[in-house]
Amino acid sequence: MAATEFALYIEDLSVSFDGFKAIDSLNLYIDKNELRVIIGPNGAGKTTLLDLICGRTRATQGSIKFKDEELTRLPEYARVRRGIGRKFQTPSIYENLSVFKNLEVSFPAGRSVLGSLFFKCTDEVLARVQVVAEEIGLADKLDTEAGLLSHGQKQWLEIGMLLMQEPELLMLDEPIAGMSARERELTAELLKRICKNRSVIVIEHDMAFVAQIAHKVTVMHQGKILAEGSMDKVQNDPKVIDVYLGH
Ligand code: ADP
Repeated sequence: MAATEFALYIEDLSVSFDGFKAIDSLNLYIDKNELRVIIGPNGAGKTTLLDLICGRTRATQGSIKFKDEELTRLPEYARVRRGIGRKFQTPSIYENLSVFKNLEVSFPAGRSVLGSLFFKCTDEVLARVQVVAEEIGLADKLDTEAGLLSHGQKQWLEIGMLLMQEPELLMLDEPIAGMSARERELTAELLKRICKNRSVIVIEHDMAFVAQIAHKVTVMHQGKILAEGSMDKVQNDPKVIDVYLGH
């Protein structure tokens, strides 16, 4: 397969921790505007894979290309600049600032939180905040203090803070953890919206949610890909059933 066909092109990727192969010769290809969900039992290597893509962990072997550019040896901040965004489970928002300010300070102009409190927001930033606020469904909450948002709204705000940086690949780790049923619904809609303009990779355990959002599912086990394809296909794969039932 040619790298140019894909947004993210991973070949023969491995990482070892003290001789233990957490990721083992893995190939993964993600299309532009694809929403890929990665599932697999605990310890399968899902988090480590995202750590390798964003540069938090360095590969022992293999290649990670994003839009045809080799990322494998670039540090984490350089990958952010090339359009890789990663959200972790715990929200890291500024609780005592408004939703607007949280988004504004995330604009990648190198302005500090303190600076943005005293200087006027440019039209460009203002326009971007409006677009992102619409995208994350918080356009009517711009003046609300972030600490007063619900758990789900805080998660969406953090996604919005990443969107301010205009990522072309967004990676989310269990985005609906701790959410109400209604918030899960809205998160599914939000993810479907944001993958129209970028690729998205989600790690998720909730199979009903996976079925609702995934264009394609990758099942990981022991650092390798066990199965890949539509939710229907992987759900009925005997290897996947074996791993989940622990045979
Ligand atoms: P998952 O996200 O699928 O639950 P992880 O990627 O967290 O799996 O972990 C895969 C394996 O790699 C586990 O056995 C874990 O203990 C091991 N591992 C992950 N990170 C490290 C590390 N920094 N040092 C040692 N072992 C690690």
